[in-house]
Amino acid sequence: MIEAQRNSQIRTLIDEQINLPSPPEIAVNILNTVQKDDSSIQELARIIKADPALTGKILSVANSSFYALPNKVTSVERALSILGSNLFKNIALSFLIAAELRSEKQSTFNFDYFWRRSVTSAVAAELLAKSLQEKGDDFFVAGLLHDIGVLILYLNKGDEYASLLHDRKISAEPLEKCELRQYGFTHQQLGAMLIDTWGLPESISVPVHFHHLNADPPEEHRRMTEIISFAGRLAAIYNQTETAGKVRALQTEICDLYHLKANQVRDLLDDVARESIDILKAFDLDPDDLKPYSQMLQEANEELGRLNLSYEHLAMELKEAKERAENLASELTDVNSRLRELVFRDGLTGLYNHRYFQEILAKELSRAFRYQSSVSLIMFDIDFFKKVNDRYGHPVGDLVLMNIARAIEGAVRPSDIVARYGGEEFAVILPQTNESGMQIFAERLRRTVEGITTIAGNQQISVTISAGGSSYSPDATKDTPQRLIAAADQGLYASKKNGRNQVTIFKPQTDQSAPPS
Ligand code: GH3
Ligand code: MG
Ligand code: MG
Repeated sequence: MIEAQRNSQIRTLIDEQINLPSPPEIAVNILNTVQKDDSSIQELARIIKADPALTGKILSVANSSFYALPNKVTSVERALSILGSNLFKNIALSFLIAAELRSEKQSTFNFDYFWRRSVTSAVAAELLAKSLQEKGDDFFVAGLLHDIGVLILYLNKGDEYASLLHDRKISAEPLEKCELRQYGFTHQQLGAMLIDTWGLPESISVPVHFHHLNADPPEEHRRMTEIISFAGRLAAIYNQTETAGKVRALQTEICDLYHLKANQVRDLLDDVARESIDILKAFDLDPDDLKPYSQMLQEANEELGRLNLSYEHLAMELKEAKERAENLASELTDVNSRLRELVFRDGLTGLYNHRYFQEILAKELSRAFRYQSSVSLIMFDIDFFKKVNDRYGHPVGDLVLMNIARAIEGAVRPSDIVARYGGEEFAVILPQTNESGMQIFAERLRRTVEGITTIAGNQQISVTISAGGSSYSPDATKDTPQRLIAAADQGLYASKKNGRNQVTIFKPQTDQSAPPS
């Protein structure tokens, strides 16, 4: 009684707020005809055949694989006799209602989306019923109309209802809760009432009423209601409202409830997409890029694979590029240091050249000043070298220069710098060496050169050197390279003057006492 009271209250609320659309005229004719017992089949065939477009659509559904007819059906009469007038009627009604309640104009409500989802639900309901071996003709139309209340609400309330739909998507509140708050009834109740009013059977209106499964339907319609509910959720998968996680949950629920195997449910899911593509076309709806769920997964996996592949490829290229850059950098360092060597080396002897000598002498002097240490300089010149050239030729002179250079390099410490100052004149910088140390070394150097013999043909050539030395000592004031060179040069000049083949030490001139002219 209480239930009946509540139903009449809802009916009143709906009556007050909603103008229920009348069914399309042909639908009324069809419903009336089916209710009559005799000769109804002929009558039904006549009504349908009067609408060739409708005939074509019904036949295309009749021939779709979920009715699994043994042969292609090309006539209304044949379809009617095979499918039975009830199923035939339902298919016809589905087309008529979907065509009637559509809008071509742009609106805040997407009619095409609504019907695409409804048709997919219809297909899912039919296929699910089939795989559960459920008997009945009403699955398709019940699936199709399960959310019809949503459409009727929009047609009556317009943008107000569109914004309710929009808001609840954001708030994630159940739709019926929002509807109850706003209108006092839900789209399921409205949909069921519309179906009742149009004279369709309870086997359709009850599942529509209870498809959210938030109340128990009468036992005789429980199974059908569950199927419609699952169908709605299956259809949602193909309309981008279900995530992969939700799909898995749905698969598990269907497996558990109906004792189906996982692969059966997977096939069912794929069949829904495959079948829907044809049926949507019959409904003049664009299937868009609808594709089986397993294909969606496979494509996603392939894309992921491609991404991984290109990521690995990229990483490899990056690694190679890095290696190439590193090799190039080290080659560049090598080339640079070789270039630096070349720039600072003398071509004939391989000793440091004049430029480098000047640079190093300046550095060593300021270092000695900074650390209060000594640095010494020896400059020497080959005695009567002109004669060597004159007598043996210039190339032999070169050989002598090279031999002397090698011998001096062998005689010095690693920290000493040997340079070709120019022509047959050489210089040796001795860091951290004081005057007495320098004098000892200069003497050794002189003897070393004296001891070298250059073989040219059957000639043995020996030369001597005259050397001059100067030192910077920690107690001295800051000195310049020029003064150190000038002092060593004076020593060299003195050695030449005093008979050659000897070493003379000169003290660098300080600022106070001018160098001797
Ligand atoms: P002194 O004892 O006074 O130094 O006599 P010297 O002959 O060594 O001096 P001088 O300055 O008169 O001659 C230097 C000679 O050194 C002249 C020049 O041809 C020679 N010389 C300079 N550079 C080179 C070189 O690279 N190769 C050869 N073979 N000879 C050179
Ligand atoms: Mg000379
Ligand atoms: Mg000379």
